[in-house]
Amino acid sequence: MTNLTGMRSIDRKERLLIPREPVPQQDPKERIENFFEVYEGYDAEAAVIEATRCLQCPEPQPCTLGCPVHNDIPRALWHIAQGDFFEAYRAFRQTTTLSEICGRVCPQEKLCQGVCVVGAHDEDPVFIGKLEAFVADYVRENGGINLVPDHPTGRTVAIVGSGPAGLHAAEILALHGHEVDVYEAWPKPGGLLIYGIPGFKLEKDKVDALIDRLEALGVRFICNTCINDDGQPSVSDLYEDYDAVMLAIGSGTPSTMGTEGEDLPGIWQSIDFLVATNLPLSDLPESAPIPFVEGKNVVVVGGGDTGTDCVRSAKRAHAATVTLSYRRTEAEMPGRAEDRKFAREEGILYEFLTQPIHFVAGADGRISEIKMRRMKLGEPDASGRRRPVPIEGSEFIMDADLVVLALGFWPDDKFTKKVEGLDTQKWGEIKVDPMTGMTSKVGIWAAGDAVNGADLVVTAMSSARRAAESMDMYLDALTEEYKQMGIGGPVVQRRSNSQKLM
Ligand SMILES: Cc1cc2nc3c(=O)[nH]c(=O)nc-3n(C[C@H](O)[C@H](O)[C@H](O)COP(=O)(O)OP(=O)(O)OC[C@H]3O[C@@H](n4cnc5c(N)ncnc54)[C@H](O)[C@@H]3O)c2cc1C
Repeated sequence: MTNLTGMRSIDRKERLLIPREPVPQQDPKERIENFFEVYEGYDAEAAVIEATRCLQCPEPQPCTLGCPVHNDIPRALWHIAQGDFFEAYRAFRQTTTLSEICGRVCPQEKLCQGVCVVGAHDEDPVFIGKLEAFVADYVRENGGINLVPDHPTGRTVAIVGSGPAGLHAAEILALHGHEVDVYEAWPKPGGLLIYGIPGFKLEKDKVDALIDRLEALGVRFICNTCINDDGQPSVSDLYEDYDAVMLAIGSGTPSTMGTEGEDLPGIWQSIDFLVATNLPLSDLPESAPIPFVEGKNVVVVGGGDTGTDCVRSAKRAHAATVTLSYRRTEAEMPGRAEDRKFAREEGILYEFLTQPIHFVAGADGRISEIKMRRMKLGEPDASGRRRPVPIEGSEFIMDADLVVLALGFWPDDKFTKKVEGLDTQKWGEIKVDPMTGMTSKVGIWAAGDAVNGADLVVTAMSSARRAAESMDMYLDALTEEYKQMGIGGPVVQRRSNSQKLM
């Protein structure tokens, strides 16, 4: 973390007077006809002005502390303000390989921007996320930076899962000179960046470019391969064949409600719905079901980011009406407020304090309406949020000929139970050493939502870095003798953040 001073003749007071540079956006009427991102991004001139608003606070800089991977944001923004976008990108790359992703999907208003000192002066905080995305795009579009892996170590790594955790770990390990194979169940790599987060938040070409960069570093992606499934390689096979294994399998098992009629035809799980509405058929498994949304009354149940992504996808698939039902009020909603603002602009309706109590079939056996009940807020529960309590006699009927359940996700215990000696936590998350990210089984690490539970891209990346750096130390220390004994080398303390991302 460096506090760079003397960046320009403008002093802090003058910087506070510079208004936020707006980012061009697609008009709501236009954007509901496509899956392109809402924000069209800064150009170079606007980025320089916006970065000049950064006050270059003295250490400890709140934005850096507010970022889960501690990006040196003031340094990066200083370089942007000088028009040196490559140096800015290098500053971000000290701590992240996913700037093009995090700049778009991180909830910055709760992280770096949420603690920006400019914001504390009643001004709009510096638009850090948009600046991070800008430099990553600029550098990619202008030839990228030259990444040179260390001399090959001869050590081999298998990573299971190609979401942000798997991709971040793969890049770190490849740069350290290890041979990295990434196994992925879906037809394409990217995890939820492809098979979850819709294009209007993150256009897929950004993820494709990331995969190309990793392939250029020698990382191999083995797709359509579900580790531990019948007839597919198991974790034990990988353990035998590679020097180290990382489990970055995410947290992809959908929660259910246990409500009558929940499995009627026409009721979708969120991920099945999102992938089918967002992606071309060529990126889907042959067996993937495709919903017919046009003209339907769609109801999405669930108040998180996933629910908001589902309603906005339904709108773009030309549903007649789209309603989101949530059992608490907007104040308790866990998803991003900005995405809800966009959703409202796009014509989405919200029914707060409502809960389905019976999904009812029509004459054709498909969902046709939902018996709902109104709720009120009671005492706070374990999460600190006020518990929704049913209001007796408040039942009403809501028309719905397509329903999407977006109720949250759990780690896949069918997978973990098949790995002998792998300890898990109460809700199925893989248990790891907090310093090293290694699991209870020597030689196997885990990272991302599989460890944290369903969370964020940036926290998946943070845990992947810890695990990859520790794995690198282990691989360095892994002598032939240790290998013969099947116990691996000693796992030493993880390295500091200064490691090999450049
Ligand atoms: C709809 C939706 C919207 C979201 N929006 C945001 C957002 O705006 N901002 C944000 O920060 N976060 C968001 N998130 C959360 C974020 O996407 C996740 O926290 C992040 O992707 C977790 O990364 P991961 O690598 O741990 O897991 P994942 O991205 O889930 O990747 C895990 C990968 O492992 C693969 N896999 C699993 N089991 C196997 C197996 N047995 N064999 C081979 N491969 C396997 C899976 O197919 C998957 O590709 C969203 C999540 C969803 C569902």
